[in-house]
This record gives sequence, C-alpha cells and structure tokens, in this order.
Amino acid sequence: MTLSNNHDVIVIGAGFSGLYAVHKFRDDLGLSVQAFEAADSVGGVWWWNRYPGARCDAPSVFYSYSFSDELARGWQWSEAFASQTEILRYLDYVADTLDVRKSFTFNTRVISTIWDDDVELWTVTTDTGESHTARFIASASGNLSIPKGAEEFPGMDDFAGDVYFTSNWPAAPVDLAGKRVGVIGTGSTGIQVITEISKTVGELTVFQRTANFAAPSRNEAVAPDRQRWLADNHRLVREGDRATFFGLRIDEPPLPSSLAVSEQARRERYDKMYAKGGINFLGSTFADILTDEAANDLISDYLREKIRERVTDPRAAELLCPTDHPLGSKRICMEDGYFEVYNRPNVELVDVRSDPIVRITESGVQTAENDYPLDVIIMATGFDAFTAPLFGLGIEGRNGVKLSDQWKDGPEAFAGIAVNGFPNLFTLTGPTTPLALYNNAVAAEDHVGLAAGIVRYLLETGASTIEATSEAAGKWQGIADGLLESSLLPKANSWYLGANVPGKARATFVWVASGVLFWTLVADIVSHDYGGFAVDGNARAVPPLLKLDSSCARLLDAMLMAGAEQKPLRERDVEEYRAEVATLTSMLSAPPRDTPGMDVSDQMYPGPGGEQLIRLYIPQHETPLPVLVFYFGGGFVAGSVESMDSTLRALADDLGVIVAAPRYRLAPEHPFPAATDDAFAALLWVGENIDEFGGDATRIVVSGESSGGNLAAATALRTRDENGPDLAGQVLIMPVIDGEAKTRSRIEFAGGPILTADSIETMWSYYLGDGDNRSSRYLVPSRSASLEGLPPTLIVTGECDPLRDEGEEYGARLRSSGVSVTVRRLTGLVHGSFSLSGAIPRAQEATEAISLHLSAITARDPR
Ligand code: FAD
Ligand code: NAP
Repeated sequence: MTLSNNHDVIVIGAGFSGLYAVHKFRDDLGLSVQAFEAADSVGGVWWWNRYPGARCDAPSVFYSYSFSDELARGWQWSEAFASQTEILRYLDYVADTLDVRKSFTFNTRVISTIWDDDVELWTVTTDTGESHTARFIASASGNLSIPKGAEEFPGMDDFAGDVYFTSNWPAAPVDLAGKRVGVIGTGSTGIQVITEISKTVGELTVFQRTANFAAPSRNEAVAPDRQRWLADNHRLVREGDRATFFGLRIDEPPLPSSLAVSEQARRERYDKMYAKGGINFLGSTFADILTDEAANDLISDYLREKIRERVTDPRAAELLCPTDHPLGSKRICMEDGYFEVYNRPNVELVDVRSDPIVRITESGVQTAENDYPLDVIIMATGFDAFTAPLFGLGIEGRNGVKLSDQWKDGPEAFAGIAVNGFPNLFTLTGPTTPLALYNNAVAAEDHVGLAAGIVRYLLETGASTIEATSEAAGKWQGIADGLLESSLLPKANSWYLGANVPGKARATFVWVASGVLFWTLVADIVSHDYGGFAVDGNARAVPPLLKLDSSCARLLDAMLMAGAEQKPLRERDVEEYRAEVATLTSMLSAPPRDTPGMDVSDQMYPGPGGEQLIRLYIPQHETPLPVLVFYFGGGFVAGSVESMDSTLRALADDLGVIVAAPRYRLAPEHPFPAATDDAFAALLWVGENIDEFGGDATRIVVSGESSGGNLAAATALRTRDENGPDLAGQVLIMPVIDGEAKTRSRIEFAGGPILTADSIETMWSYYLGDGDNRSSRYLVPSRSASLEGLPPTLIVTGECDPLRDEGEEYGARLRSSGVSVTVRRLTGLVHGSFSLSGAIPRAQEATEAISLHLSAITARDPR
C-alpha cells in the first residue's frame, strides 16, 4: 500500500450526506478526504431512483441544503415538490459549486472496511481492487440505498419480458406505451410510478399486498418571481426548521386535540388541510393523531372516506382502504391523482394478500389462483433499510468483529452515529436517528456536523480514537426502543422495524420522536465532554438525559408538535399562560373513569381574602375515611382544581380516601403569603367540618404537587406552630422547597424538560412580590429553625426534575430532626408527571407510593 493511499477521512456515498461530508471534512476541517461512490456520478437515491413519477414529498425549499447562502441563492425550485430530474440537477449543481466531485472515485463500490488496532487505521478495499487507509470513516452509504432482493419472487429469470427495479431505473428512456405492465408494491414508490405510467401504458395490473394511507401533495409550479424570492430569502424561510417536529416549518400548528372539538370543527380542520395538501394534512390537523389511537382512528376514517369518494368501483375502493395499520405507522404517501388511476378502464387492482404471488413465470405473474400475462414487470418492493448499506461495506472492527454479526439482532448506534468496538467510524444518518418522520436534508447536514465536531475534538485534544461505550450504545438503543414501543409504529410491518425483509431481525431502526429531542440528548452528550464515548480507550460516563422515560420524551414531542409556546414566562401574558396550563393539564390528566358512588361536591371555605372553593371527592366506602388535602401545582401562578379534576377523582378512587382540593390565590396578583394563608385556612376548614363529610380527624394528610408541595410543607409547619388540626402525614410530590436553591439537579436540568431554571426564577419572583418575607419558614420550609414534631412524610421526586435535589435534601433534614421520612425517586420522570399522568403512565407509581404511605401511617398509629 502506498502512502498516497492514506487519508484522514474516507467518505462512502455521494448523496445529500456524502457531498456535504466531503465539503465539511475537506474544506472546513482542512483534512485529506477520499470518497467512493458506486454510481457513475453524484445524487445518491436521486441518481438511482429515476422511475417515472419520482419526486420528493417534503417541499423542495426545505428538502435542500440550508448551510450555505451561496448554494441557496444560486438555485431556484420550479415546483413545490421537485421531480427526481430536478433534484438530481440540484445535487450536480451542489457538487460543482462545492467542487467536491474531484474528491470522489465513481463507479467504485467499497467491499471491505477493516480496522487495524496496531496502527489505528481503517483499510478500505473496493471492487476495483484498490486499497486505501484512513483514520476516520464517514459512511454516507444511505439508509434506502440497497433494495430488497428478488428472492421472494422465484422464477424472475424465466420471465420473457423486461423487469425494472424502481431503485435502479435506467437513465435511458423506457418505452412502456401500449404495453401490459405489472407493478408489484404500493408504497411511496409504487404510488408515484403507478400514477405516472397509468397515463401511457396499454394495460396496468397493480399487485397490492397492503393498502397505504395517501393524501394529496397538491404539487404545483412555482411562479418565477416567487422562485427568486424564496432563493433570496432562504434564511428567513429556513429559520426555525430544526425547532420543529418534522425538521421543516409548517404554515399552521395543529390544534391540540382531535377529541376536544366538535365533530363539525374536526371535519372542517381535516377538509382544510386535505385541501392545502402536502405535510399540512399530517402536521397541521391535530397534534394527537400520531399518539392517540382514538384520534388516529378518526383521521383514518376520514381518509378512507376520501378514497371511497374518489374511486368509483366499490370493490377497488374497499381494497384501497388501509385497515390493518394506523395512519403514520407506515410512511404516509403523497399523491396527486393516485386513487383516480383505478377509475381507468385499463387498470386492474389485484389483492395479493388474499391471492398471494407464487412465482414469476415466462409470461408474467402467477398468483395462487390466477395468471397475469405481462410484457413488463416493475418492482417497487422497497429496501433493506439502514443495515444493508452498512453491512455492504464489509465493516470489521476491533478483534475482527464484523458489524453484521454484532448487529444481527438489531442495531446499537450511540447517538445514531457511533458503534462500540468500531473506533473512528461514523454511521451518518444511521439507525435510530430522526429520519423516518423528518426532513432528511436537514438530518444529513446535522449528522455530518456531529461527526465533524467529534473529529475536531479529537484533533484539538490530540486523542487518536473515539468510539461508543457498550453501556452508552445499549442505553441509546433502550431509549429508541422505548420511543418506538410508546408509539403506534409497531402496529405495522414496515421498513422502520425491519419487518419488510423476510428473515431480518425485527428491531428498532428509527428514532420515533422529534429531532429536537434527539439533538437535545446529543447536546447533553457533547456538553459532558462526549459522555458515553471512550476516548483513547478511556470510557466516559453516560450523561443524565439518557434516563428520560420514553413517555416523557413522547409528551415533550407532542408539546413541540402542538407548537407549545417557547417564549419565557416573564414575557408572556399571565392569563394566557394560565389558560395554556389549564388546557394542557386537562388534556393530559388521568383518563376519565367511572367512579360509581363517588360523591363530588364543591364547598366554600373562608379564606383571609374571602370565600374560596374546596372540592371534595368522597368515595363510596365505610366512613370515617382518611382525608388527603391536596394543593395543586402551577408555580404559584397557574393551575386549578378544575383542570386536575380527573386526576383527583382517580386519586380518591385508587386510595379509597377523601380528597379535599382547595383553590388558593395566585401570584403575581396575590404574592406570598396569600397562597400559604389560604392553604392553611383550607386545612382549618377541613378540621372543623370533617365530621360532616365523613372524614376521620385523626387521619388528615396534607399533600401537594410542585408549588402545591411547598404549600403542603408550609401548612404542616404552620398547623404544628399554630395548633391547627393534627396531621397524620404529609405528602410532597416534586415540591418546590426553596425557589432560590442551587442544587445539582437545578443545574443539570436548568433547560428543562417541562420546567426550566428561567421559569422557576420568574414564578418565584412573582410569588415573592415586593414583600420582605424571604426568611419566612412558610415561604422556604427548610429555613424553619426546627423541623421536629412534623408528621410522617413521603417525598416523591422525579429523576429528571430540576426540583429533585431540594425535595430529597428536605427529606434528609426532616429525617435528622427525627421525622419518619420516605423518599421515593421516580426514575426517568420529569417535573409535573403526576398531573400529566394521562400521558405518563408511570406517574401511577406516585399514587402507589402514597397508598403505601397511607397504609403505613394507619398501621403505625391507629389512634
Ligand atoms: P443516499 O442518497 O442513499 O446515498 C447513498 C449513496 O451511497 C448511494 O449513491 C450509494 O450508491 C452509495 N453507496 C452505498 N453503498 C456503497 C458502497 N458499498 N460503495 C460505494 N458507494 C455506496 N427523504 C426526505 O426527507 N424527503 C423526501 O422527499 C424523500 N424522498 C425519497 C424518495 C425516494 C425514492 C427514496 C428512495 C428516498 C427518499 N427520501 C426522502 C429518503 C432519502 O434516503 C434521503 O432523503 C436522502 O436522499 C439520503 O441521502 P444520503 O446521502 O444519506 O443517502
Ligand atoms: P416500501 O414503502 O417498503 O413499499 C414496498 C411495497 O412493496 C409495499 O407495498 C410492500 O407491501 C410491497 N411488497 C414488498 N414485498 C412484497 C411481496 N413479497 N409481495 C407483495 N408485495 C410486496 O418501499 P418504497 O415504496 O420504495 O418506499 C420506501 C421509502 O422510501 C418510503 O417509506 C419513503 O421514506 C421513501 N420514498 C419517498 C418517496 C417520496 O414521496 N418522496 C418516494 C419513494 C420512496 P407490504 O406493505 O405488504 O410489505
């Protein structure tokens, strides 16, 4: 091997990812780069998939590079959704403008990629017999670049006519005019090719195994002045792409809930977005369609109705209606005129689920029950996604371990990009990265950016190798598995799960959440000095955010999808903020349930600021019953009894106790001590009236969540000090103990999720008001000179909550004052999980902890 064959980086692939990777490593980092591409030029999938009708389904202004003003200004898209030919021309233009072509060797397939531990280099061998070494490998070999084989269709070689694979369509024109053409496959590709060729072929037979959801793209030509404007203003247009769920901006955020609106309003929304077309139908209708099965059923019914309206033959219409998987569990296809194809007299739809394809014969396709004579067969049968392109590189890591062996049961790529035992290898746009529901042009740029950042870090620190630790890769995969499991995707057999390829292990290949969540986790890894990586063999601890429970991750995404307001609280209108918190809490509180015999009544208690409501939930049990006084949370600024209604009802039902939930005055209108005065007044009222509503005066427990936890803790102190009702216990759920605490969790989770350092600061300043009460123990319970004599305490904390440590520290202080304390930390849960239990099923663990606490109190002190 000659020295000239040694490079800093070898890039494989000349699609969106590979072109940018060469530019980034070569021009930004100043490294020597050699790139290989099996095709004869650049383009990636857009070089290979030249089939009639091929075009993108993300709007072209977004499905293009965003990093360069020069590139953006020099290119104008002629259609909203560009055709394959235009995208290929664009990638040619990019390659020329960045002058990356000269770094590529085309018509060259990489067949082996082997790590040598002694020299810490990769050796790459190609099908043309060349060998090259490099310190880093950036695989940009794509995830939809290796088609499924034809083994499922025995007899292919016997066919006397022509067979075309959409994934390797000839560059020269293919004449289908007047011919009998069969298309196998009705995914995104099949739908496009069928629509296009139906206009020219003699007879068309479509072999459909699974009907797919499809909605109109409403593709249209872009007027020249608009084209120019979009090119000139690309920064404005692309601004915020990465802060969205799909990696591209949509015109209107979706409405929060399909079920919370009337049938007419729902229909109007569907109609509007179906008419607008493109991503709007999936992205701008309702935020819950991909997470809530009932919401998904409703929108699926709508799409089926549309198919029945558009297809005149009722038998064909029924066959075209997807019934075996929820909308979005497979990629929703974009179409313009697809369903009308089946109204043509020359088109036949064959259901190969009930009558499967048996073989290809000399004359055409043979199913179990029929023969279909054909001149041409078009295979639109999809891809062996994600792993096949990587395995095709013949990658062997440390100790000769083959990637294909290590991943035979499924992938494990940390941050989607790094593999344990395979140093200095970057699997760009690899498994478990945001792609399936994401703008891939943005994904390609960001992945290259991540790989380049890692390489720069190594160069700057003088380190030689970097790879994922086995623990980190496993944890990452665990997160991806959790996200997948908590989504609707496992309800379909698709390439997302490897389920489209016979014999392939069913596993999690996709990141079923937003890019925002993905890149938040990656930022955490980077800010922990590449935590979870081993640098020169030294493993670094896996950073904390990897602990996030998948239901919390899903919730954060749902909020993102709904366009949750990102403005800091202090810049917001308080009433608007309260309304938003109320909607969110009502939507995400415990699911409504039947509680036969439960008596729910609103009473009034006399507070220092006037009468206030207290809602009683009295289950049908033998009285007297323990009473749980519950103060809602909301940062002293927002929150209400009403929006927590179903959670409080469920609590009373689960625990078999009376729950008494008072309203209290909110800041900033009513700063400290208004809320805590009301909280205490409510307890006094409970003590005085307890016999009337069947409560047991010896078993009163104060409780609350978040700021309500602060009020409960303050009330426990106050009733001790001012001879109020005796308490049998206190339950503090993710409580604020000291608004100005400087704990580790406050720093670790300063940016959220859910609760940020900034919003804590604002809420606390609202609660403090202008008053000079900082030293009051009823403001900061931990400032009490003595904590002795407080009742048995349960403190529930969330692992990913900025308030975690102050709650736990308060528990330690109580314990050292002789109070019986149980601290229950809920792993992976975020602040507010209890009131958001409808979206976070594991929040039930808080209720279970309260139940145990109550039975322990009763057992210890029956009084
Ligand atoms: P690719 O474009 O797949 O490029 C990989 C390249 O690596 C290929 O050219 C291949 O020949 C080469 N290669 C692979 N193995 C080797 C080897 N061993 N040796 C040498 N070369 C090798 N995504 C969207 O976001 N929006 C869309 O509208 C969209 N439309 C799509 C339409 C089609 C028909 C397909 C198939 C995919 C579409 N996608 C879309 C997904 C698409 O995969 C990405 O958008 C993107 O183009 C991928 O770019 P890439 O550079 O990562 O990989
Ligand atoms: P696909 O979604 O996997 O669809 C393959 C089709 O072939 C399915 O209908 C499948 O049926 C059928 N099929 C496979 N094996 C079969 C068999 N043995 N017998 C009968 N039918 C069989 O593949 P794709 O359509 O090529 O799309 C792949 C991905 O590429 C898309 O999800 C999308 O991400 C991307 N893409 C995007 C666009 C775009 O609009 N921009 C266009 C094309 C592709 P089953 O469903 O029953 O398995």
